[in-house]
Amino acid sequence: MEHWIDKIDAADSLETLESIRIALFGKKGELAKAFAEMKNVPPEEKPKVAKELNLLKQKLMESFEKKKAELEKEALEEKLRSEAIDVSLYSPRPQSGALHPVMQTMDRIIDYFSSLNFAVEGGPLVEDEFHNFEALNLPDYHPARDMQDTFYFKDGMLLRTHTSPVQIRTMMREKPPIRMISPGAVFRRDFDLTHTPQFHQVEGLVVDEEGKVSFANLKWILEDFLHTMFGDVDVRFRPSFFPFTEPSAEVDISCIFCEGKGCRVCSQTGWLEVLGCGMVDPNVFKAVGYENVSGYAFGLGVERFAMLMHQIPDLRSLFEGDLRLLEQFQ
Ligand SMILES: [Zn+2]
Repeated sequence: MEHWIDKIDAADSLETLESIRIALFGKKGELAKAFAEMKNVPPEEKPKVAKELNLLKQKLMESFEKKKAELEKEALEEKLRSEAIDVSLYSPRPQSGALHPVMQTMDRIIDYFSSLNFAVEGGPLVEDEFHNFEALNLPDYHPARDMQDTFYFKDGMLLRTHTSPVQIRTMMREKPPIRMISPGAVFRRDFDLTHTPQFHQVEGLVVDEEGKVSFANLKWILEDFLHTMFGDVDVRFRPSFFPFTEPSAEVDISCIFCEGKGCRVCSQTGWLEVLGCGMVDPNVFKAVGYENVSGYAFGLGVERFAMLMHQIPDLRSLFEGDLRLLEQFQ
């Protein structure tokens, strides 16, 4: 039986020790068998054999308990080692979101005009024909009304096709002078490489007593604005037509991709169209009940500004929700 002491000492895990316990101390274990053998011992030797057997049992129990304590201590240390927290380990930062590039661009535009004391006005996305068309010198029969393919509701209401109705609402609510911009979403039935059914505009309006607001004022502010947004670019005004302004102009900047030499983006012209503007048509003032005033207005597409400022080649990438694009704008 002495060899069991070596077996216990050699045990290298609690599992091995447990199998030894069963084989040695179990109900059908070696010790139980040894005690059972006592019945075959002659009576005169019984006390001596029993004493020896008990001593052996005690020795075995002591070795076992000692080994068990050792192995348990080791197991605990191993567990502590494996579960230790290394505070110097790299931990990934939680992902944080960011404003969409279109909203960032809108914010920059708003910041510029706010710094010049323009009020920021908002209005409903669902409009009526008066505010969206008629008051803007676009009567029923006006061919320009076909220029804008509109989302109509059954009751004749519509999704605004530009933010100009906000200017109408502001003028009908307040007396001049007016100095405002109207940033927001607009909707048209258009969908191709360079058009989406929803996009964003910022329009501006300045109205004051007749003679106080001139095309020269308009030209100065738009040139300053475009230099703030695009840096050192050339700016040119081209005569154009809009129903709500007279005279009207489209505004180009020298191509920021080829510096005016001509490339695919500017269709080899060296110029990029970025704005529409003009002096407010007298018919618009008539519609809102203003008299003896003059004013200018301008409007721009925020997506186009975002694409040009960040050199994003495809308009659709702004709406696909691809995190790889959005992460670049954090
Ligand atoms: Zn170019």
